[in-house]
Amino acid sequence: MWPSRRSCKHPLPQAGTPDADAAAAGAEQLVRACHEARQFTDVANFTLRCGVCQIGLKGEKEAVMHAKETGHSNFAEY
Ligand SMILES: [Zn+2]
Repeated sequence: MWPSRRSCKHPLPQAGTPDADAAAAGAEQLVRACHEARQFTDVANFTLRCGVCQIGLKGEKEAVMHAKETGHSNFAEY
């Protein structure tokens, strides 16, 4: 269902669980908030860092995918 797993060392939760969905929704909200606050022109290419794994994620797509894969929702601007 998900493309390749990224280099996150956390266990993979069941995709589609409420937690994963909530995390993904949180990631989307964060991305939107950052986008609005900073007026990013290219939402697909800015970078975020997962506060749990400390890995960099590029763009909304990766952030949301990571949130869905791991259940992490603690993202910070990179
Ligand atoms: Zn993570």
